[in-house]
Amino acid sequence: MSPHESPLIVVGAGPAGIGAAVEARRSGADVVLVDSSGVAGGTIRIAHEVRNVPFLPDRSPGTLVADGLCAFAHRWQLDAIAHECLSVERDGDGVVVVTRDGARINGCGVVLATGARPLVPIVAGLPGVLEPPWACSAPDACRAGSIASAAIVGASDVAFDQARWLRARGVVVTVLCRAAVPRAPAWLVADACAEGVALRTATSVACGSVARSRWVLRLDSGGAGDELEVDRIVAAAGRAPAWRGSIAIEPQAMNRVRVAGDAVGRRARHVVAALGDGCTAAAELLAARERES
Ligand SMILES: Cc1cc2nc3c(=O)[nH]c(=O)nc-3n(C[C@H](O)[C@H](O)[C@H](O)COP(=O)(O)OP(=O)(O)OC[C@H]3O[C@@H](n4cnc5c(N)ncnc54)[C@H](O)[C@@H]3O)c2cc1C
Repeated sequence: MSPHESPLIVVGAGPAGIGAAVEARRSGADVVLVDSSGVAGGTIRIAHEVRNVPFLPDRSPGTLVADGLCAFAHRWQLDAIAHECLSVERDGDGVVVVTRDGARINGCGVVLATGARPLVPIVAGLPGVLEPPWACSAPDACRAGSIASAAIVGASDVAFDQARWLRARGVVVTVLCRAAVPRAPAWLVADACAEGVALRTATSVACGSVARSRWVLRLDSGGAGDELEVDRIVAAAGRAPAWRGSIAIEPQAMNRVRVAGDAVGRRARHVVAALGDGCTAAAELLAARERES
């Protein structure tokens, strides 16, 4: 197969990956869409409530948005194939994507749309990696069974969204915000507090330890110290592009790769921005290949 006939490979089937894959498909290109989860829709699936996606009812659950994206991809005969991408290498005039299960997928280029993952705050006594008691999301905190209490470290919109997700399932939730005022919009903070989410501002976690199989967080609120006992802790103090440090890109393959959506590492992380970004990435990559041929 000549490189010009080989497919565009899209890694990640969230909004950015689906935007890229559909754009490529509608322009007539062959596409391979892979996602480590094997399911399309992306991170928005875990959101408690979404209000900024046009054409969907206000306060839609994230699952509805993700299922809508899945259906959109399906209408273009695009289903995510379960593969975790480990590296992108140059192969002749094209690229090859190497996956954890040993597959080698050849293509004319790659759109990397792998989203962002939460950063783990450094706290004495707690692991510095995403393992219990840390959870990467509210659903992740409940994966091993229901929990009674949780702390959310961070005070962005993601922090309050996930606090509401847990609260709606009867969990006692405390949001720990280092600043005097949370970064999340005031309406979201107000909704969360009205639903019973506790908010501690100007409070940081000094250290953590285990007691009676629960986690005890020593809190520091401007000199005054007290403790909070919880089952799990959700890391919501910032996110970083998921591909950095986990996908190796050969320097010779760089000009065949476009990064799209949350994987770019911008502050504004939104479904519609990611969708548009994916479309643009695919269109640019295919146009560049067209010019070369
Ligand atoms: C709790 C929460 C609430 C949110 N609420 C809103 C909201 O109300 N409105 C809004 O607009 N946005 C919201 N967002 C942001 C929105 O979810 C993201 O901006 C959007 O999902 C980004 O799309 P993406 O395609 O770039 O990445 P993602 O949706 O994260 O998709 C990335 C995909 O890549 C896959 N992947 C990762 N690594 C690999 C690999 N190595 N190989 C193969 N596949 C891989 C993942 O499995 C995932 O499916 C929220 C986010 C969170 C976390």
